[in-house]
Amino acid sequence: MSTVDDLSKRILADVVTDFRAKNLGTSALNNEYVGPSIAALEMKFCADGPHSKVDFDLALKQLEESKFVNTGPMVPHDNPPGSSLVFMGGRSKRKFVYLTEKGYRAAQKLVSKPRPPAPSVQEHGSGDADRKFARLAIDEARKSVPEPDGRSHPKVGAVVVKNGKLLSTAYRGERSENHAEYIALEKKLTDESVAGATVYTTLEPCTTRNHPKIPCADRLIERKVARVVIGMLDPDDRISGKGQRKLRRAGIVTDLFSHDLAMEVEELNRDFTRYCEQQDQARPIPQNPKASPSIADEKVAAILSYRGKPVTVMNHPKSGRYQGLDSYWPHETIVADCTSLFITLKDATGQQYSFPLDQVDVNFDNEKKRLRLQIDRY
Ligand SMILES: [Zn+2]
Repeated sequence: MSTVDDLSKRILADVVTDFRAKNLGTSALNNEYVGPSIAALEMKFCADGPHSKVDFDLALKQLEESKFVNTGPMVPHDNPPGSSLVFMGGRSKRKFVYLTEKGYRAAQKLVSKPRPPAPSVQEHGSGDADRKFARLAIDEARKSVPEPDGRSHPKVGAVVVKNGKLLSTAYRGERSENHAEYIALEKKLTDESVAGATVYTTLEPCTTRNHPKIPCADRLIERKVARVVIGMLDPDDRISGKGQRKLRRAGIVTDLFSHDLAMEVEELNRDFTRYCEQQDQARPIPQNPKASPSIADEKVAAILSYRGKPVTVMNHPKSGRYQGLDSYWPHETIVADCTSLFITLKDATGQQYSFPLDQVDVNFDNEKKRLRLQIDRY
């Protein structure tokens, strides 16, 4: 494969990753999604990598010609006549990459799902033990109890092992409507220390459950297990990989079942996978963004709760010579408005500024006890 082909795949993968990270429906590809800036991508791929600027331009052109992406300036938004509103994005000379639906679909095929790691020599000869316990988890998964809600659910088995000793096993629904990891850890090992244990689970641990239930990934972290071996990632596109990432961030080692066992798990859950894929296809039309609460909605709500109030505003350069050096806005600034696309700020002089919401990080200024906005400047 030529270096340009390879690079165009990597660029596309990056834009798709960026899009997924923003948790938007695919309908956003047509109107709401502004991808990474070309400058940022170029910096990433050309700065000290093997790629030249020429390769980068060719790769991007190739993606455009295949209609996988569009490029252009920030979406121009007309300022209302007579308003003093300034759309910083609209003025920006920077160009951005817009992912197209075709590009998104192409990427599903190009960007392969994470493969199980190649067989390798594992410490303490745990390869055989991993196989044995993964097998046991699959056998447990087969016992899963269907739920009477008419929806498709995964079959999940979990096995807890410490110092080579089997501590507990469980399957989904073994105790009514509970997840396998929860039953294995909380119901069967309530008082035992499982710190340092390895948990084999046929499905990636969940990261969201309805309150007051605690997601399995949080349980595993709380109980200080050392390693989690996963049969398959969640087939729901919106959450796939999140459980694994959460565990890793908490310092837990994650591995995947060996290829043949992983295939067995996928086979076991093919109905559920199909169900998720159909849901995924049926999903892309949240016409009214308020209908499905998302991370973006929560961000908008948090910002709107500060409308008219002073906030701390910082510029947060993502690249260039000031990278990592934040600067505070000199004037007291208030939140004037916020939509799912743009936030508008007004400083003490009455000047208003708008920024694309996805360039704004929201957190809390502990010192001044108020909202803090970090605005990415490329
Ligand atoms: Zn769970």
